[in-house]
Amino acid sequence: MEKYTATCLHCGERHDPYSLSCRNGDDALLRTIYSSSRLNCADLPGIWRYREWLPVRGMIEEGSGRTVTYKSTAFASALGLEDLWIAFNGYWPEKDARMMTCTFKDLESFPTMQRLRELGDTGVMVVASAGNTARAFSHVCSITGQPLLLVVPEGSAHRLWTTHEDTSAVCLATVEGDYFDAISLAGRIASMDGFVNEGGARNVARRDGMGTVMLDAVLTAGSLPDHYFQAVGSGTGGISAWEASIRLIGDGRFGSKLPRLHLAQNIPCAPLYSLWHGKDAVSTSCPGEMYDDVLFNRKPPYGTRGGVRDALEATRGTIYAISNDEASGAQSLFEAEENIDINPAAAVAVAALVQAVRKGSVLPEDRIVLNITGGGQKRLMQDLPVRLMKPSVRVSANDPNAERTIITTVQSMFGVRI
Ligand SMILES: *Cc1c(COP(=O)(O)O)cnc(C)c1O
Repeated sequence: MEKYTATCLHCGERHDPYSLSCRNGDDALLRTIYSSSRLNCADLPGIWRYREWLPVRGMIEEGSGRTVTYKSTAFASALGLEDLWIAFNGYWPEKDARMMTCTFKDLESFPTMQRLRELGDTGVMVVASAGNTARAFSHVCSITGQPLLLVVPEGSAHRLWTTHEDTSAVCLATVEGDYFDAISLAGRIASMDGFVNEGGARNVARRDGMGTVMLDAVLTAGSLPDHYFQAVGSGTGGISAWEASIRLIGDGRFGSKLPRLHLAQNIPCAPLYSLWHGKDAVSTSCPGEMYDDVLFNRKPPYGTRGGVRDALEATRGTIYAISNDEASGAQSLFEAEENIDINPAAAVAVAALVQAVRKGSVLPEDRIVLNITGGGQKRLMQDLPVRLMKPSVRVSANDPNAERTIITTVQSMFGVRI
């Protein structure tokens, strides 16, 4: 029997495991249906502990980390909460948390890379990113040697630090322009022969990888929580938490009620908040002056079948608008109480929890999972040598030859003909 199928959420047709969209032309997301409805954890390193519910057969052993969930005491009591669980994604050796790029994007990059290997695609993988995703993919590609083209806006290049000495599998192209210039340039290159697009939210390996946050939290706490808090840009993590909860209900051991999704965005650059609440919360200066611009995505998978709107409706969830001041206050409080640094994006989720407690949207005795999507970067930099990656090529978004210049660099670095 096949381990899983990819099923269209619109027409129900089962597709071959590597499809990214329905052949009937629906734009609905495909969802994996695993043949095993019970989650048996494997005695394997990192994320592979949850291999049974990941769309892969093998694994990349080296360098994979997983979520570490623990019950909060200090921060929980500061908020007056009795059953708060922190799902920590990042580096925190005392807790055995070893996500080496310090955000939950590592949960997407490992299964995505493994699936690509199983598919036997020999093309150069193309990833456009303003930071954390780029770091996660360059980490896994530095381990496997898979050639990777990263297209990153020049202003985000400071996020591309690495713990690897050898990053020769990565061609880093910086673009003079913004994130959208980088995305469109990457999209044009990825559609050419010899390159592969990893698929974003449509790729079930990315979503099921992120879904392991919920798996880890529920296995540790013993049951599905009442509430799940996360900061979102695309909302993919929220969709993934919902999908993982559906599977956990199907398992039968963890309860039968879907956790409510409490998703958080940073105002004044909150497109998902705008769509859900029907209020305009996107200023023309975006993503300028955000608390963390990784939370800005102009085209999130909102209305598509199986997307953010469906996830919120199914879970009676909501979206919060968080100001920079709220995020900064929440970050200081969390770091002081829990004794670990967190990523600014994660602080936006912490602030949403603070708001929810204040408004009475969660009760003191409710079981709550707070996804700390990134943390321990300062901690890691104290412990390990890191260096900034050097761009392999620099282009300007206005240059009509930008694509050509990048492709020539890729060819000479990887010796491929494109
Ligand atoms: C990407 C990212 C998010 C938002 O993730 P979604 O794809 O919107 O679910 C939140 N926090 C951090 C640290 C991230 O890197």
